[in-house]
Amino acid sequence: MVWLGQNVNRIQTDEGSFYFSSVARDITERKETEVALAQVQSALEKSEAKYRSIIENMELGLLEVDTKGMIIRVFERFNEMTGYEGDELVGRNAKETLLVPGYEAVMDEQQGNRLKGKTGVYEIKIRKKDGSELWVIISGAPFYDEKGEIRGSIGVHYDITDRKNLEFQLELARSQAVKAQEAEKQFLANMSHEIRTPLNAVIGMCHLLNDTPLDATQAEYLEILLRSASNLQNLISDVLDISKIDSGKLDVQPKPFDLKELAQSLMYPFVVKNRERDVGFEMDFDALINYWVTTDPQLLNQVLLNLLGNAEKFTEKGGVGLHIRILSQTPSRALLRFEVKDTGIGIHPDHIDTIFDQFRQADRQIRDLYGGTGLGLAISYRLVSLLGGSLQVHSTLGEGTTFFFDLDMEKHWPEVEKEQRKFSASSFALPDDQQYQILVVEDNPVNQKYITTLLDKWKLGYELAPNGLKPWSASVKAALTLS
Ligand code: ADP
Repeated sequence: MVWLGQNVNRIQTDEGSFYFSSVARDITERKETEVALAQVQSALEKSEAKYRSIIENMELGLLEVDTKGMIIRVFERFNEMTGYEGDELVGRNAKETLLVPGYEAVMDEQQGNRLKGKTGVYEIKIRKKDGSELWVIISGAPFYDEKGEIRGSIGVHYDITDRKNLEFQLELARSQAVKAQEAEKQFLANMSHEIRTPLNAVIGMCHLLNDTPLDATQAEYLEILLRSASNLQNLISDVLDISKIDSGKLDVQPKPFDLKELAQSLMYPFVVKNRERDVGFEMDFDALINYWVTTDPQLLNQVLLNLLGNAEKFTEKGGVGLHIRILSQTPSRALLRFEVKDTGIGIHPDHIDTIFDQFRQADRQIRDLYGGTGLGLAISYRLVSLLGGSLQVHSTLGEGTTFFFDLDMEKHWPEVEKEQRKFSASSFALPDDQQYQILVVEDNPVNQKYITTLLDKWKLGYELAPNGLKPWSASVKAALTLS
């Protein structure tokens, strides 16, 4: 097909009459361009309608602003979100009209980025026409004119008010739970002294009662009382220890001390207690550790005591060993490995990963057979971490278990330390001579009774004070308190 067009011209003759001449032209090319343009236009309109409906259906409110932040176009969904109508917002300043005070800095920063051609996603609060507030997440991008210059930016707004409210509620619930947990830990940590004191008194009095004449039934009842009180004391002591560690109230107090002496005095009771059993207790102490070390001896003692206690409990025959050796050292520091090995029942591989968790015992059967709280290893793990190490375990079921950790410690030389120790030991040594008195500082009347009964029994002189404020006589050379 060919499109024809006509050019009609008016021509005037000499007689003054007019006639028209017409020339037919082929305008196929122009017509085709027009048709193509119309098709493109319609496709564009359809495409815009399609994306507009997608955006509206996706509940995304679009807003266009110029480079000065004045609103130039508002999409219907944005109006629905904010309660405005038609072009009511056009021509207004977006920040002044919509922004809830407090978010100006975020908005300015984003606006600045848009002018530099950057896109961005941010969350702010906007105010609706009725004054109520709305949380929105905005994805903003610059748009350009045909010359490639930035003409403004378009912001896609999504209403996240419900999500934000939920987040606030969750945060509130979380912080309340954390506070409650904190309060519980603080309570337990603060109550530590209050709980231990009467329990110590119960156990102390049981011991005193044991020294009085008892018939067989009374002796049996007393034995049960003592055993139960001592189990309760262990349990309470573990629970209090863990809450003290968790509440951050446990102070690490490093000081130089004789590690060999600590290890020997730790092992000694186990050796004596297990003489009759088929379990040997041995210590292997690296002879090259001929110096003192600095760490918190009390905490180290507690960890090793717990590991040795477990090894003793779970070993029927064979041996338990405490090994302390040097892994590496410099003139001033030593990296020492502490190992507690046993040939006991071992730990099943399924339980090894959770063995340091609180209240974990390898399995129900073990708890029934051996008792315990499942807290000892959790405490030891935390204590070793506080000392700067990491408690680890290797175990083979039926063959034995090794717990170990490494500590990097400062070295100290015994000559100097021993001098100091001699001095401090002499100032606190109990006097041989009866003319010296012991000062007993104790506010709890039951504990006072317990201590003074013991001192009477050992025929030692003493002076009793409820607190450190009361002046005491010059003959007092040693102070004693239970708590
Ligand atoms: P518990 O007071 O119950 O002994 P622990 O935290 O000290 O608590 O130990 C947790 C569990 O780890 C024990 O119940 C036991 O199953 C296992 N376990 C600990 N030490 C050993 C060991 N030396 N040999 C075998 N099993 C052990």
